[in-house]
This record gives sequence, C-alpha cells and structure tokens, in this order.
Amino acid sequence: MDSCLFCKIVRKEIPAKIVYESDTVLAFEDIAPAAPVHILIIPKKHIATVAELTGDEATVSGDLIQAAAEIAQEKELDDFRVVVNCGEKAGQSVFHVHFHLLGGRDFSWPPG
Ligand code: 5GP
Ligand code: ZN
Repeated sequence: MDSCLFCKIVRKEIPAKIVYESDTVLAFEDIAPAAPVHILIIPKKHIATVAELTGDEATVSGDLIQAAAEIAQEKELDDFRVVVNCGEKAGQSVFHVHFHLLGGRDFSWPPG
C-alpha cells in the first residue's frame, strides 16, 4: 500500500527504531509511548485490521504474538499488556494491523 504509514516503515522509507524483524513481522518503538516500553508489532504485509485476519491471512497472527513474547522476554518484562485496537471507535488510527506491546508500569482494568 503506497500511502500507508506502516508500509512505508516496512519499506524503510520512514525511519523507525526497529527492535525485531523476521520474514513476516516488523516491530519498532511507538513514536508517542504510552508506557516505558511501547513497541508496535506489525505484519510486513498490508492488512488493515485484525478483523481481516481470517482464512489464509490468519497465519501471521501466530507470528505477531510470538514476536510479542520474544520481545517481552528480551526486555525482561514479566508483566505486560498486548493491545489491538480494531476500528476507529476502538481507537485505531493507523489502518495497518499492529499489536501494541506495553510494559514497564502498572495497568488498570477495564481499559478506557
Ligand atoms: P492505534 O491508535 O492505531 O492503535 O495506534 C497507532 C500507533 O502508532 C500510536 O500509538 C501512535 O503513537 C503510533 N504512530 C503513529 N505514527 C507513527 C510513526 O510515524 N512512527 C511510529 N513509530 N509510531 C507511530
Ligand atoms: Zn500498510
């Protein structure tokens, strides 16, 4: 997707602090961190929302959560949160699937 912000990061057209990369997944620091650790984990392939992670597209889901677990381990996070916003009303602002990996502070529940 030419105009997609996260596709531009995948293509390295926009700089990002990359912390993890595999054939299918890229992870980088969020530009406006909401916690001491705030990493965005994305599929390299453009998929707009997690609602589209069905059928053949679902295979990347495991890669995304595996990356989250490996980054959490690498950053020695015992407690962390993985958040996925799907759709504008749920807080999604970039329409390229991303898991937020948040850690380094306490979190409340339910989320806002
Ligand atoms: P959403 O609101 O869609 O769930 O999350 C989008 C996230 O992308 C936000 O946490 C926001 O701070 C982050 N973000 C927006 N633009 C950029 C950017 O250019 N670079 C990086 N690294 N993160 C970004
Ligand atoms: Zn994209």
